[in-house]
Amino acid sequence: MEQKSGMLLTVERFVCPGKGNGLRATVRIRRGQLVASAEPLASCVSGKRAAEVCHHCFTRRETLLRCSQCKMARYCNAGCQKQAWSGHKRECRCLRRLLPRLPTDSVRLAARIMFALLNPPKTNELYTLEEHESHLNSMSEQKKQGLSQLASMLALYVQQEEDSNLTQEVTSALPPSCRDPLSLIAKVTCNCFTISDGELQEVGVGLYPSLSLLNHDCRPNCVMVFEGERLQLRAVQDIRPKDELTISYIETLSLTEERQKQLEEQYHFVCHCQRCNSKKEDGFILSGEEEKWQQLKVALPSLEGLKTESNWPALLESCSNLLSAAGAELPDENLYRLRVTDMALDAAVQLGQWEEALTYGKQTLPAYRLFYPDPHPVHGVQLMRVGKLQHHLEHLEDALDTFKEAFIIMRMTHGDDHPLTSDLRMKMEECRLEMDAQQSGRH
Ligand SMILES: [Zn+2]
Ligand SMILES: [Zn+2]
Ligand SMILES: [Zn+2]
Repeated sequence: MEQKSGMLLTVERFVCPGKGNGLRATVRIRRGQLVASAEPLASCVSGKRAAEVCHHCFTRRETLLRCSQCKMARYCNAGCQKQAWSGHKRECRCLRRLLPRLPTDSVRLAARIMFALLNPPKTNELYTLEEHESHLNSMSEQKKQGLSQLASMLALYVQQEEDSNLTQEVTSALPPSCRDPLSLIAKVTCNCFTISDGELQEVGVGLYPSLSLLNHDCRPNCVMVFEGERLQLRAVQDIRPKDELTISYIETLSLTEERQKQLEEQYHFVCHCQRCNSKKEDGFILSGEEEKWQQLKVALPSLEGLKTESNWPALLESCSNLLSAAGAELPDENLYRLRVTDMALDAAVQLGQWEEALTYGKQTLPAYRLFYPDPHPVHGVQLMRVGKLQHHLEHLEDALDTFKEAFIIMRMTHGDDHPLTSDLRMKMEECRLEMDAQQSGRH
C-alpha cells in the first residue's frame, strides 16, 4: 500500500556541484516507485480555466457553483466551496476590488502564498521560501521589466485599503527576502509548477517548496503527475542511493538548441546534461529532406494560431494538405511532421471525425515510442487517446493492445491508484467483455 500522506519518503537535500541545491535519493528506488508526494504551500486555478475547473479540488466540470462575491472562483458544490473558504477569503476581497480586471496567474499565486504564510502550515519542508532562487541578478533587463509590472500589480492587488494593519501583518509574515513584491514574484515565476489534469491539460499553478529543489535534466529520472493539486513524483528509471533526482522543466521532445534556449530564457541556466552534451538525438529528430521539413516548420506558427482560435476545420485542412504534400516524404519520427500530425489529431477529434483521427493518432505512435525511451505521462496519455478511438470504432483487439501498452507506462508514471489508471483498467475490461460478447454471438 502506498503511503499517501507521507511527504518525502526517500529523499534528502544536498548541494550538487555546479548546480547549487538539489534533491537526492537516500535509498534504492525502483522504476515506477512513488518518490515523494506533496501538497502545495499555495496554488490557484489558471485564469484561462477559471470557468471550467473547481477552485478547490481542481476537477473539471460542466457546471460549477460561482462564488457570489468575486464571481470568479467556482466550485463543484457547497462542500468544495466551504473547504476552500479559508484559502479564498482574503483573495475574494482582493478580486472584488479589482473587478472586472483579473490579475495574472503568478500574481494570484504570489498573493495566495502571502496569505498562506499568515498561518504557516506545520510541515517538514526541506526548502524555505526564503531560500528559493529569484534569479533577479542573472535576468535580462526586459524580463526584469516584465516582472516589475507584475510586482506593481501584486502590490495593488493585495493592498487592503480599508484595513492597512492587515497589509502590514501580511508583509511582516513574509521572510525578509520576499517582502519586496519584485523578489517574491520572481521567486514564484522561477519556482512554481504547472498543475495538470489527467489529460495533461494545464489547470493551475502551485508552489511546492521542497520539490523546488529538483533540478532539471533533459532525460530525467523522475516525472511529476498530479491528483487534484497533490503532486506525485515517481521514478521512471532505477535510482541508486545518493543519485540526484531530476525532472524536466520543459517539453523534452525538442532539439537540443531549442531546449537550451528555453531553459536559459525561462530558468536562467545552461543545461549540461548528458543528452545536451551528446546531441545524439538531433539527427533523427530532423531526419528526412531538409527542404521538406522546413515547409512544415515554417507553417507551425500559423497552425498554432488556428488551434488557439479553435478553428478546427481550417486547422484540419491545413494539416492534411501539408502532410499529404511535403509531409508524405518525411519519416514518421521527423519532429515537425510529428507536431503537424498531432495537431491534425486534435482537430479531427474536435470535429468528431473519428476514422481520420485514428489514422493520425496511429501515425504518431512510432515517434512517441522512439522519443520517450523511459515511461512518460505524455506517451501514456497519447496511447490512451488512440486506444479510445479504436474502442469507439470497435477495433476491439487493437484497442485492447493499445490500452495494454498504455497501462504498462501509466502504472509507472501515475501509479496503480491514480484515477486515470483505474479508468484505463476499466477500458481494458470493457474491451474484453465486448470481445467475449462478439465471440458468443458468433457461435
Ligand atoms: Zn470569491
Ligand atoms: Zn471541487
Ligand atoms: Zn539538457
